[in-house]
Amino acid sequence: MNKIGEINFRKIKRVSPSQFYSMKNCAYKSLLAEAFDKMPLLPVSPNAYFGTVLHKILELMAKGIIRNEEDFNAEFDNQVKILEDDLQKNGFGFYVPLKIKLKNFGLKKVQLKKHLQSELEQPISFSSTKFHSEKWLESQDKLIGGKVDLVIESGNNVEIVDFKTGRIMQDCLDDEGDIVSDVKNEYKEQIKLYAYLYFENTNKFPTSLSLIDLAKQKFSVVFSEKECKAVFDEAKNLLKTTNDCVNTKSFSGNPKEENCKYCLYRPACSFYQKQLETDFSSNDVLGEIKDVKKFQNGNVSVFLRSGIRNLIIKNFSSEAFDELNNNKNKQIKIYNLRKEATEFVYSVADTTMIYE
Ligand code: SF4
Repeated sequence: MNKIGEINFRKIKRVSPSQFYSMKNCAYKSLLAEAFDKMPLLPVSPNAYFGTVLHKILELMAKGIIRNEEDFNAEFDNQVKILEDDLQKNGFGFYVPLKIKLKNFGLKKVQLKKHLQSELEQPISFSSTKFHSEKWLESQDKLIGGKVDLVIESGNNVEIVDFKTGRIMQDCLDDEGDIVSDVKNEYKEQIKLYAYLYFENTNKFPTSLSLIDLAKQKFSVVFSEKECKAVFDEAKNLLKTTNDCVNTKSFSGNPKEENCKYCLYRPACSFYQKQLETDFSSNDVLGEIKDVKKFQNGNVSVFLRSGIRNLIIKNFSSEAFDELNNNKNKQIKIYNLRKEATEFVYSVADTTMIYE
């Protein structure tokens, strides 16, 4: 059974544009991540791991290291192999082989390959265009900083490009209440922050900001210098108020489904646990062990009391029996369960973890 000891909160030294939106939604998550040295307390989804491979390949294309299909195939296989070895080593062998375990593995590979022909990656030798991939940009006080995927400088034109391996657009309501598709706010704010960092470093603003998805679609982000400055100020202010909490030791979380669902620090979050006492909508549960039963096929079920509810968690392996049985009447938390069709009945999944 896993245990969370005392949490040593520390000040966050720097916010990256890619973390900013998550921090804005729940700064406590960022503080927990810092306290645990960014080591997740729950398994990361295989899609997130695969996203890092996709991003790495895009980076190598942008740098001109992958130039043709042969390079692409070799490097793609190499990166997938590195990731799979890593997953095996860290106890996540159930995600391997990614080719079979991941939905859309083949489709994403095909989409990625199409970037080979992209003009962005073709150095234009006859002009003064400069491509800077994975360019580090930081504010003068070093409080905000991160790597932007690509900066293209051509005369007076400067374009900042960020590659995205997931969906870039989201549906939202316009002023008339009609549903329209627009670039996700988090991506808009992220790239505006890069734009301001570029300004801090060069004293001039980029002329265009673009997001490119795996299908090679390009989305422009409309911006003004004022907006970029406003996001920058907001990020600095957020970092300050978040770090002030470490001094005063008065923390607050923001437990909402959209924030907590993918938060890998849920086991350490008292705000989330408080919510689990009465809210049974997630795939995590909390309760006192009331009984543990082993069936003839070796499977083990645990019966928990959670507030006024009785919960049944099925399909633990037989090896879990003794530990669970020895902890009767103790409160435990179980994360990443699968909900069964019957209410308040759950079963264990590959990624399920138990915490005291
Ligand atoms: S579990 Fe939710 S409330 Fe707690 S830190 Fe994570 S996102 Fe914030």
